[in-house]
Amino acid sequence: MISFYPGPSQVYNDIPKYVRDAHTKGILSMNHRSTEFMDLYKETVTLLKTKLNIPDSYKIFFTSSSTECWEIIAQSVIEKDSLHIFNGAFGEKWFTYTQRLVPAAQPVPFDCESKLPIKKIPDSYSGVLCITQNETSNGTEVNADILLSIKRKYPKALIAVDATSSMGGIALNFKSADIWFASVQKCFGLPAGLAVMVCSPGAIQRMKSKNESGHYNSLSILNEMADKWQTSYTPNVLGIYLLMRTLKKRKSIEQTHQKIKSRSEAWQKFFRGSPHITFFIKNETVTSLTVLTLTAKPELIKVIKHRAKTKGILLGDGYGGLKQDTFRIANFPAIKDTEIRKLQQFLRSYL
Ligand SMILES: *Cc1c(COP(=O)(O)O)cnc(C)c1O
Repeated sequence: MISFYPGPSQVYNDIPKYVRDAHTKGILSMNHRSTEFMDLYKETVTLLKTKLNIPDSYKIFFTSSSTECWEIIAQSVIEKDSLHIFNGAFGEKWFTYTQRLVPAAQPVPFDCESKLPIKKIPDSYSGVLCITQNETSNGTEVNADILLSIKRKYPKALIAVDATSSMGGIALNFKSADIWFASVQKCFGLPAGLAVMVCSPGAIQRMKSKNESGHYNSLSILNEMADKWQTSYTPNVLGIYLLMRTLKKRKSIEQTHQKIKSRSEAWQKFFRGSPHITFFIKNETVTSLTVLTLTAKPELIKVIKHRAKTKGILLGDGYGGLKQDTFRIANFPAIKDTEIRKLQQFLRSYL
């Protein structure tokens, strides 16, 4: 089966080989307090920094999911309040999860055809600004220029960015925010159960000022353990190993970004002029590069998804409120050109 699901998504072809290697090398039962594990943690962090252009001064933590990162930010970083600027289901979910722990969390919803409304952020805001860089539910993105202007305009704020469905697929300017996180079952092309959380010195400072250590996954404890290249609980060692192996083989993020961008342009061209299947988002300046959300009549979507499956192609369902009216196609690095051609050949008769 070729999977175009935008998460959990198709994994790299080499994964079975790497899992066998992990078994042979004893990684599957590796002790997480051993020097071998500490070396693995360190090597993976070095590779992440080199391959994704993460500044050396930033710290990298391993958690089990992006949802866990939402909660870590709420419990360990947000002091008084947070502002959640979102246009879709994932950003909204982040807000609701945060609100349970931080009642003063504020929602700032915006239209998914519009650019993120910077003006709606109060002047000299100093709380935590929560932004979903790539909204997986509707296929929109907040581009690098906007993130950078927010960083410049709000130097007192701490900026947290959910990049779950874009990190590893597009080049991100890590300096333009303080906390970035992504789980690995999207653009990293790996099985679920691991997430990467990237923190600037400013984020670490804010965590220290909040001084919260009441949880096994309090950021202060993760930070203390990371200083020893360890984790506070037995982590997904296999996941970290697979991340290390795939990163080693990866091209630079600029090269990957170019590939994802030209594939995205090719998809735009492919659907252009079709009376039956169109992009859900009409404004190309806010359209995601990594997740394509397409709209068609619900009956047609059902037929397409079903027929695709019989041909060995898995398409992504619409998400949340968009379930009936949309379907999604992942534009993630682990997908091969031949597979895209196969999907286009299949879809051509429905255009
Ligand atoms: C998939 C996704 C999540 C949730 O990731 P988990 O690993 O399931 O916690 C959060 N945010 C975005 C934008 C996503 O695409």
